[in-house]
Amino acid sequence: MRLSAMLGRSKVKNIKDVAEYQLCCGCGACAYISPDEIRMVDAVDYGRRPYFANGGPAAPQSAEAMRVCPGIELSHTFDRGDPGLIRELLEAWGPIREVWEGHAADPEIRFAGSSGGVATALALYCLDHAGFYGVLHTRARRDVPYLNETVLSRTREELLAGAGSRYAPASPCDGLKTIEDAPGPCVFIGKPCDVAAVQKARCLRPALDAKLGLTVAFFCAGTPSTAGTLQMLRAMGVADLASVVSVRYRGNGWPGKAVVQFRLNGKTETRELTYEQSWGEVLQKFRQWRCYICPDHSGEFADVAVGDAWHRTNREDDPGHSVILARTNRGHRLLHDAIRTGRLTVDKAAMGVVPSSQPGFQVVRGALWGRLLTLRLLDAPAPRYVDMPLFSSWLRRLSLKQKLRSGVGTIKRVKIKRLRRRHAYQP
Ligand SMILES: Cc1cc2nc3c(=O)[nH]c(=O)nc-3n(C[C@H](O)[C@H](O)[C@H](O)COP(=O)(O)OP(=O)(O)OC[C@H]3O[C@@H](n4cnc5c(N)ncnc54)[C@H](O)[C@@H]3O)c2cc1C
Ligand code: SF4
Ligand code: SF4
Repeated sequence: MRLSAMLGRSKVKNIKDVAEYQLCCGCGACAYISPDEIRMVDAVDYGRRPYFANGGPAAPQSAEAMRVCPGIELSHTFDRGDPGLIRELLEAWGPIREVWEGHAADPEIRFAGSSGGVATALALYCLDHAGFYGVLHTRARRDVPYLNETVLSRTREELLAGAGSRYAPASPCDGLKTIEDAPGPCVFIGKPCDVAAVQKARCLRPALDAKLGLTVAFFCAGTPSTAGTLQMLRAMGVADLASVVSVRYRGNGWPGKAVVQFRLNGKTETRELTYEQSWGEVLQKFRQWRCYICPDHSGEFADVAVGDAWHRTNREDDPGHSVILARTNRGHRLLHDAIRTGRLTVDKAAMGVVPSSQPGFQVVRGALWGRLLTLRLLDAPAPRYVDMPLFSSWLRRLSLKQKLRSGVGTIKRVKIKRLRRRHAYQP
């Protein structure tokens, strides 16, 4: 075993440890595996977190939940020798068969969608034409619109209600039982860590595996805690949370604005922030710790991954484009079917589009090996990543100055974020 893998893991033995040492990304898979013991709750300063019905984790359910937890471990199992994979992208972006750029052909979906509405349009294609039963994904809660809930959508209207990225905690894996119990195949849409959890869970639960017809991940730089949303709402002039009628973070144009509607003096007020003001100035500062040490921002475990086409410069007039990655044969086939039947309007893209659309991801990945080693040397818990080449990225993509800065930055964070200590949280 490597030295780096031996250090810093002994403290994390069960799901409670994962959550209290801030390695949890909030996916909800542990609650799916162990529903009698765990339910997901909103911990305002952290994110969606497992809460234990009986105060603490008990064997053996918790041990099983650990096996699906993406917070503590991720490992790739795909065939690296597969001739269909784009070799040049393998190291930094995982398995990719084809790269496309495009959008939903349906203008309403394209408009409502976060970038080009591709996740929604592809899911709708699966419902309408490929014999799928439902789509497990995330939407705003009806009763508390600044929080999220997991839903199984079965119609265009239901899917549209969830379109658009929500920069707030969501735990779509807590609904995996609805896929397992569905009478037909289903689509799962989530963040890369959500999809990584699904990939682990399907290995453990054949009934789930049988019903998972397609997994779609969207690119993700990090999930802000609910405290981020509350700060954003304050910046938009919301004084009373009970007055909030709706909260959008993106979509309705590209990249779309954050929009809140709330009741004030008997009238409905609408306030907006640009993407730069909402994400750039507020939300990204509230990202959960696990996102700083995340190796997979581009959905490497999904059948299909979609992201923003940030390399496009004409943002003012752009109704929205997505970068689309076909990662598995299954994803490749369903994407081609959706294109052939006119549900997606796309162009084949050069592989260079992937790094140029997300320049930040490679820098973050480059810094990761050093960050993890620093954590372990300081006896702060760190996740384990298998078959994800981090050392070579660190060696080649970071200058000496960047390497040093990243190490010093991690030392500071261990102190400021109190990463060696447990963080108890309440719903
Ligand atoms: C937390 C977060 C961070 C992001 N970071 C990046 C980034 O760094 N780079 C980048 O290119 N794009 C990022 N995005 C945006 C997203 O990757 C792209 O816009 C992507 O192309 C999806 O666009 P779409 O139009 O195809 O999706 P849509 O058709 O709008 O569908 C979005 C789907 O995502 C689901 N969803 C929304 N919010 C969440 C959530 N919080 N958790 C789980 N599921 C959710 C919805 O239910 C819906 O099904 C981020 C999004 C989120 C929520
Ligand atoms: S990362 Fe997911 S599985 Fe792991 S503790 Fe958090 S919610 Fe549970
Ligand atoms: S950055 Fe990584 S860990 Fe954080 S929410 Fe996104 S995919 Fe999950």
